[in-house]
Amino acid sequence: MDVLTTALPTGIAEDDAASVVAWAAATFGSGLVLTASFEDPVLVHLVATHAPGTPIVVLDTQYLFAETKWLIDNLHRRLGFPLEVFEPAAGVVPDDQWQFDVERCCARRKVEPLSRALSGRSGWITGIRRVDGPTRADTPVVQYDATRSITKINPLAAWSDERLDQYIVDHALPRNPLTERGYPSIGCWPCTRSVAPGEDKRAGRWSGQNKTECGLHVSSVTMIEKVRAS
Ligand code: SF4
Repeated sequence: MDVLTTALPTGIAEDDAASVVAWAAATFGSGLVLTASFEDPVLVHLVATHAPGTPIVVLDTQYLFAETKWLIDNLHRRLGFPLEVFEPAAGVVPDDQWQFDVERCCARRKVEPLSRALSGRSGWITGIRRVDGPTRADTPVVQYDATRSITKINPLAAWSDERLDQYIVDHALPRNPLTERGYPSIGCWPCTRSVAPGEDKRAGRWSGQNKTECGLHVSSVTMIEKVRAS
């Protein structure tokens, strides 16, 4: 796909997440998908509202928190979106790999299932935000992932924590119960801890290890562009 065909129209402000989602639905149609961590309910609500019918994918690593599963069920009942659950390949069962090889564990439980989830799709909505941490500080709203040959849309890239919180209040949405227990970033239970006030939001992910991303949003992308029609 020509990267320029993915340009966000100039009439859409980059923090206008509802319009970005609606634009993505109109542009990619049945080729659009959202992968959601259910750390919070905001993007799931935006997509269910402004791109109804878009599949919402959960990567079930076999290590999701019970609280995250509760939020998935709650929002699914409430919003009725098409839910697609992708599990690790046959033969991958709960084990202790996360204790000694997190890279391989993430590859088997997240990255490989993601490849299956994105197969045949042309537009991929994600919830990554610039305020998540230094590795995401330059996240564009629209980019082309040349490694996966897909256009990646990040409608919340420019959103602050305060704006996210206000959206939840305005729409009376349920929160992941872990949020109020000091978990600003939520992944698998073996690799996520709560953080202290003032700590980096993602300090609780793979704490004490030289790892900050699971591999879903890191690739050997050679052509990532923030595209905006002139
Ligand atoms: S976050 Fe931890 S438990 Fe989850 S897939 Fe990665 S290494 Fe495994």
